[in-house]
Amino acid sequence: LPRRGFLSPWTRLPLWKQIFIALVLGLSLGVVLNQVGRADLAADIKPLGDLFIRGIKMLIVPLVFVSLVTGVASLNNLSKMGRLSFKTLLLYLGMTAVAIAIGLVLASVFQPGVGIELGTVAAVAVPEAPTAVETLLGLVPTNAVEAFAEGNVLQIIVFAILFGLCITLVGEKARPVREFFESAAEIIYRMTSIIIAFTPYGVFALMTWVAGTYGLEMLLPLAKVIGIVYLGCIVHAVVVYGGMLRFLARLNPLRYFQGSIEPIMLAFTSTSSAGTLPVTMMAAEQNLGVKRGVSSFVLPLGATINMDGTALYQGVCALFIAQAYGVDLGAGAYATIILTATLGSIGTAGVPGAGLIMLSLVLTSVGLPLEGVAIIAGIDRVLDMARTGLNVAGDCAVSCLVAKSEGELDEAVYNTPHVMRSSF
Ligand code: ASP
Repeated sequence: LPRRGFLSPWTRLPLWKQIFIALVLGLSLGVVLNQVGRADLAADIKPLGDLFIRGIKMLIVPLVFVSLVTGVASLNNLSKMGRLSFKTLLLYLGMTAVAIAIGLVLASVFQPGVGIELGTVAAVAVPEAPTAVETLLGLVPTNAVEAFAEGNVLQIIVFAILFGLCITLVGEKARPVREFFESAAEIIYRMTSIIIAFTPYGVFALMTWVAGTYGLEMLLPLAKVIGIVYLGCIVHAVVVYGGMLRFLARLNPLRYFQGSIEPIMLAFTSTSSAGTLPVTMMAAEQNLGVKRGVSSFVLPLGATINMDGTALYQGVCALFIAQAYGVDLGAGAYATIILTATLGSIGTAGVPGAGLIMLSLVLTSVGLPLEGVAIIAGIDRVLDMARTGLNVAGDCAVSCLVAKSEGELDEAVYNTPHVMRSSF
């Protein structure tokens, strides 16, 4: 965007400041429109946000594929790939279990469901949980083109890793393909930075729509649940991510928060960690100094299977519903919730509202009434914002931890305050 002229005070701002201003302006405008009874105007702005999200989503498949192929081909080493996958999965699952535990503790202490009247509502359909065998089989596409056409990120990851490894195994004869992918990656990265420059406008439109649609009246009765989910997300990010980075990786956590701010804000407004992926990948590389060999694997995987925010929210909501219905849950039920929500979060797609559908699975696992889901549904978007923000923050944290432990973190970049700008 132009840097000169009367718009220059705006265009010169770093991207994260632009996004933040857009978020606050959208929120204010939405609240005002809602209060004056013109929520329809807020809804009219939404297509602008949708347009931006479509642009970002357009990038996901090519970006994941080419960056993972170049990333894996640059690792040059099979055993490194194995170690990396193991660490990543361990961190993702371990942190998710901790997130639910935090949700359960906070909901036990603050008791958001006590004194809430839950009316009877229509029955809710429970999704079938896929079996472990089905999930494992589903990782391997029977038709690679279909995996691309459907945007099945896990299948694309599997295909890309094999493809990248074989580039290394074939060696000299694969050089033209390696160079082709390196050059394609540059092109897709440039496309990504062009679309990312429009983030503030997309965020403004989506925020106006959300704030305009959900009036304060709708949120107040459930303010306690909302407060606990938000508090839990902040506690998890600061204590768990901050603590792991500080004490395990000896990195400055503040730099991590600064460097992840753009994807976190976009995740917060768009409520889709999959949709945020291109921004997350750019931020990890440019702001946090995570080398492509790690970021191109850890982040697409994280956007698909790592959902700390979703798990934390499910812990809070399960207890909320138990309290509202006066059901006493024993220690066994708590363990079941942790297990189901951890596994459930892997199967949750990184799209808006997916966590709510999986919540019914968690409720069923401990015999809680499913009608509770309908109550949460009324305010789910607001909860989705916080949990998606945490989902993406978790992906960024794990990418830093894994990169550091593999010697794939450029600490000079990590420690330099970043200036992602809206230019291309
Ligand atoms: N919206 C969340 C995400 O994309 C998933 C969820 O609904 O919990 O990460």
